[in-house]
Amino acid sequence: MARRRYTIFFSSLVILLHVVQNHPLAKEGGGWLMSDHGLTRYRHREGDDRTLAKVAALVSAARQRWTELAGLPDTVAMTVWVVKGKAEFSSITNNSLPDWGGAVSVPSQRLVVLPTRELGKPLEQIVAHEVSHILLHATSKRTPPRWFDEGLAMATAGEWTIFDSFRLARGVLLTGLVPLSEIDGVLGFSQDKAWLAYAESFAAVRWIVQTTGEQGLSKLIRSLAQNQFETALVSSIGMSEARFQAEWRSQALGQYTLTALADDWWLWSLVMPVLFFSVLIVKRYQNQRLRRVWEKEDELW
Ligand SMILES: [Zn+2]
Repeated sequence: MARRRYTIFFSSLVILLHVVQNHPLAKEGGGWLMSDHGLTRYRHREGDDRTLAKVAALVSAARQRWTELAGLPDTVAMTVWVVKGKAEFSSITNNSLPDWGGAVSVPSQRLVVLPTRELGKPLEQIVAHEVSHILLHATSKRTPPRWFDEGLAMATAGEWTIFDSFRLARGVLLTGLVPLSEIDGVLGFSQDKAWLAYAESFAAVRWIVQTTGEQGLSKLIRSLAQNQFETALVSSIGMSEARFQAEWRSQALGQYTLTALADDWWLWSLVMPVLFFSVLIVKRYQNQRLRRVWEKEDELW
């Protein structure tokens, strides 16, 4: 569980540029080869053709899905640095991460550092998540708010899990939600608060799709190419950021109190068998008690 948390958490981290730039491995050479597949350049080890082919296919599919969703041409050049194991990833990121497994994006360099082994979640999801970060930053006029950046990456990667539902329900019922406008400071949050912030980010982007369709989300992404976020939000879904945040918060408080749980059929697929067996056990206990009463009555007769 802890590993999974770290994995997702750090897949979302944007490492400071100098960390990667200044490392010796980031310089040319160092045993790394370069291969160009369309607009994506891969930095990889020699003799790892199968992994490279797999990664290239996933990146290509992720690029296609994202640009189709956005309704934008696929014109962004990026570099994907394909690394194998923990030691290599830690070395490249200067041991600045306490765990590994997720990838790291440096949007200003259009660079993804992508481990391909011992991952805490499917490589396909990690690739889609990081590709979304690179493409959104590359196609936006200004840096988008973090909640939208992370929410879009998680949505396009299909990362919603049962734990997100629990986090949101717990956030609504116990700790309170983190205002979306504060999520830019997520790196300074405690781990639990950070996870709630990510779940909220995903839920907020999902709400855009639920209320305006994929067209609304698509229009918003395209509008970001010309406008700052506030203007883009007004022109695409007809709400200021303040109103969007207030309305999302209001519906989230209602939805995730109970219906967040009810919405997740797979949560109920876990809960229902437990309820079923609980009823069986209670019934069995009641029957045993009744039988004992009858036996006592029989003795009296
Ligand atoms: Zn991320």
